Amino acid sequence: MEREYIFRCKVCNKQLVSAPKIQVCGCSNRMEVCDNKVTANDLDKIEMINAYPRKKKKNVLANNDLLWQESRKRRKIKKLDFEIR
Ligand SMILES: [Zn+2]
Repeated sequence: MEREYIFRCKVCNKQLVSAPKIQVCGCSNRMEVCDNKVTANDLDKIEMINAYPRKKKKNVLANNDLLWQESRKRRKIKKLDFEIR
């Protein structure tokens, strides 16, 4: 789940990136990619091109979200203090 895979169908040259939903290449080999699993009529004609960690990107996004939430919270507290005084 932490890695992203790219599968290539050697019959039609289409590349599919692993995703939670099913994707098909559309040719007679009928390559189907779902999560990190791949199926096809002929798996010999399927090639895994690249696999790289997806974690880094997600962590950056999560950190940014956290920072944004944190700054929002501080703004709210400030505003509240101001109204009380
Ligand atoms: Zn294909």
